[in-house]
Amino acid sequence: MLKVCHLYPDLLNLYGDRGNVIAFVQRCCWRKIPVELIEVNVGEPVDFNEIDFLFLGGGSDREQNLMAADLLQRKNSLKEAIDKGLVVLAICGGYQMLGQYYLTSDGQKIPGLGILDLYTKAGQQRLIGNVVLEMKIANQSVNVVGFENHSGQTFIGNLDPLGKVLVGHGNNGQDGSEGARYQNVFCSYLHGPLLPKNSKFTDMLIQLALERRGIKTDLIPLENEFEEAAVKVMIDRYLKK
Ligand code: GLN
Repeated sequence: MLKVCHLYPDLLNLYGDRGNVIAFVQRCCWRKIPVELIEVNVGEPVDFNEIDFLFLGGGSDREQNLMAADLLQRKNSLKEAIDKGLVVLAICGGYQMLGQYYLTSDGQKIPGLGILDLYTKAGQQRLIGNVVLEMKIANQSVNVVGFENHSGQTFIGNLDPLGKVLVGHGNNGQDGSEGARYQNVFCSYLHGPLLPKNSKFTDMLIQLALERRGIKTDLIPLENEFEEAAVKVMIDRYLKK
């Protein structure tokens, strides 16, 4: 049984980010891997040690402000679970909240958890558009697609990026990096949502969550015709001249 937690689904859920949870759960169900999904909002209890996959979506600056204090109270237990291998996917606003802080365009500093040593500050222009990344999954180079819409520019210091930007802006529009990786935490600016379109990424997260529970198994292959078509549309449009 894998236990999936969607944290702050009422506040952090931009651009269909909930679809990431649906994709994770559905690909487990198709393989008859039992899954329990819980949704945790501000003020509601959760024991991160019991969770196998934690999802944090994107949010507006206003929504990030509304959940920041609640998230900070959960810092120690979340950090402990992450250090023990909890698999996390954090998108955009959720990604920013795992870092040190987010300095908004009106000069407000929204504190983050500081679990990942990165910071974000709003730029002059929003970074908007379709994105194609090159990312390593199971030692293979994979194209991952989505779209971004953020004012925050994130600087990841010595952390590994999630991938290299082939099309789009990524973390900050300057250094060619997109997202961040730390332990089993995967952060990205990509909406789309990300996981339904990028099945290899979803399966990597499922595999990691199972391995953390001591279950070593090859995932049953699924039919990925639609997912592969979604990636191909982007590659044909942006990378093939
Ligand atoms: N509010 C943040 C920004 O604009 C995050 C936006 C998002 O989650 N799409 O940078």
